[in-house]
Parts: sequence; structure tokens; C-alpha cells
Amino acid sequence: MSVFAEKLIAWQQVHGRHDLPWQQTRDPYAVWVSEIMLQQTQVSAVIGYYGRFMARFPTIASLAEAPQDDVMQHWSGLGYYSRARNLHHAAQTIMREHGGIFPQDFAQIQSLKGIGRSTAAAVSVFAFQQPQTILDGNVKRVLARLHAVDGWPGLPLIEKRLWVLAESLLPEKNLPAYIQGLMDFGATLCTRSKPRCQDCPMQGECQAFQQQRVAQLPASKPRKAIPERQTTMLMIMDAGEILLEKRPDKGIWGGLWSFPECKPDQIPVQQAEQRYGMQAESLEDLPVLWHTFTHFKLEITPQPLQLIGKRPGLPQHLQWLPLNDAIAAALPTPVRTLLKTLQQSRY
Ligand code: SF4
Repeated sequence: MSVFAEKLIAWQQVHGRHDLPWQQTRDPYAVWVSEIMLQQTQVSAVIGYYGRFMARFPTIASLAEAPQDDVMQHWSGLGYYSRARNLHHAAQTIMREHGGIFPQDFAQIQSLKGIGRSTAAAVSVFAFQQPQTILDGNVKRVLARLHAVDGWPGLPLIEKRLWVLAESLLPEKNLPAYIQGLMDFGATLCTRSKPRCQDCPMQGECQAFQQQRVAQLPASKPRKAIPERQTTMLMIMDAGEILLEKRPDKGIWGGLWSFPECKPDQIPVQQAEQRYGMQAESLEDLPVLWHTFTHFKLEITPQPLQLIGKRPGLPQHLQWLPLNDAIAAALPTPVRTLLKTLQQSRY
């Protein structure tokens, strides 16, 4: 048995969890329900739901026969509702294809809807004492630290490496205590943001601890670069008033007042003439402005223009407003910023 497995089992016996409701049974159905509920959800939040769910659906048959609304109602508030729909679906599969008996074959367990490799392994170990290992988020973190595995564990290559590590550490006996220990160790001691290394029996084995890289491991999910877009805003002025355009209800800044816009490769004075029949001349540039949306960054090039000659007739969504009224209108932040800049400038 690896030193890690030996120490983990010893740690679990003293510090691990032993009295959770689903630990008092080897019924694969009960273990399965608890494992699904525990995905992305803390033990303390699961306990009440688990009790109510098992009281209402004590067997695979009772779950399979229940109306979906009833199942969803017993999951209501727990979140990630596809878990409940998948449980219901899988219970019906077990009734139809396995005679109502939870399968023991690992591949058959994994083929049930909503059961991945790690959940199948937990059910196999706790219900059938089969030698399988788990690799949920907590275990990935623990193994990445113990073995100083660089790279984000969500990457297929890193995940594969962690599965190999997890399998190599699996002991031959005391499997349920070991797997429960893995779960408890990651959830209570080697936590994501505040690992209690000072209390940890693995200090001697933990490479992250030895290399003083605990805070850096495991690596975070790489952030995607936010795409950038460009626009030119036409700030057309005439006799102390400015032209604003009401944006369509759909899309960014829907229903707000803004400046007419054109693409960066278009010439603003030409656009004013072609679109609105306005003769205008360019005034001195204002500094470029950046605005960040959730999914992209917008580079705004403001182009002040002075109307020359008569104002043409305009459709309703275009209006001339005195500068002060324009600033008080329903505007996106960067447009208000630009209007204020204009107000303070010599225009
Ligand atoms: Fe986790 Fe710290 Fe223990 Fe390493 S020493 S396994 S980082 S708690």
C-alpha cells in the first residue's frame, strides 16, 4: 500500500466523516442518490434534501414510477436540475433494462444517464467494494498538489495524468475508507483557498508543500482573451445642440440614446452626408475610449463634427438635443462620458 493510502486511511479514521446518512447503507440506489446530490453541492446542503428524497422515493421503482414534477419538486432549491432529470431517467432505464436491480458491472453503471466515471467508481466502491477510484474536483486538487502537477486539471491531458496517478495510489484493502478519505481530505483539509498544511499528515509526501507552491497548484482555468470590437461615434453638433440616435430595443444598449456610429474604415463626414444628407466638417479628435462588456471590449473613436448649412428633416429616432438635456437623457456610460468631455471642451 502506498504511504499516501496508508496515511489517508489513518487520517480518515480519526478526522473523516462517519455519520452521514448515506454512509449507513450499502444500497447502491441510496449511494447513487447521495453521490449525485453531492456533485457541486456541499454535504451540509445535501443532508436535508437526501432525507426527504429517500423518504418519498425509497426505491428505484418508486423513483421510476413517479411523475417528473414530483421528482423536480423534491430537488427544488438544490440546483443543477439536469441531475434530477437524469436520476429519474436512469431509474426508468434500470427498471426497463436491468429488471429493477442496480447493475454491478462498471461499464453498465457508467452507461446510465448522468453517471460519469467518478460517480460510477464511488457507487462501485461503497456498494459493491469493487476496486475503482474517484477523481472529482477535490481529488484533482489534492493529487495536483501532492505530485506538483502543472496545468489546469480540466485539460484532457492533465486529467488523464491525474487518473493514472489516482489509479496507481489505490490500495488493495480498506477501499471504502480510502475513497471516503479522499473525499473528506479534499473537502475539509486540503481545501482550495485555505489548505491547512500545518495540520496535514502528507507534508512529507506533498511536493507542492516541499516546493512552496501550494497557492499556485492546481493551475486555474486559463482565461479566454476577451475579443475587441471597434466603432466610430459621430458627434454631430449644431448651434449648441447635438444629434443623438435612439438604439433599437434589442442588442447592446437597447433603447438608450447614443451617437450615430460608423465602422472604423468609413469616413465620418461621408457617412453624415450619405445617411442623413448633412454637410459637416471634422473637428479636433477626442481621445479614444474603451468600454468593457461581458463578452467583448469596445474601442470607441469619437469623431466631433460640425454641421454646415441647413438641418435636414430626420426620422423620429434621431433628435437634436441641447448638450445639457442630452447629458440628462437615458445614455450608456461612455456616451455620457463623451458628452461631458464635449461640455468641458471648447466646442
Ligand atoms: Fe494539501 Fe498542504 Fe497537505 Fe499538501 S501539505 S496535501 S497542500 S494540505
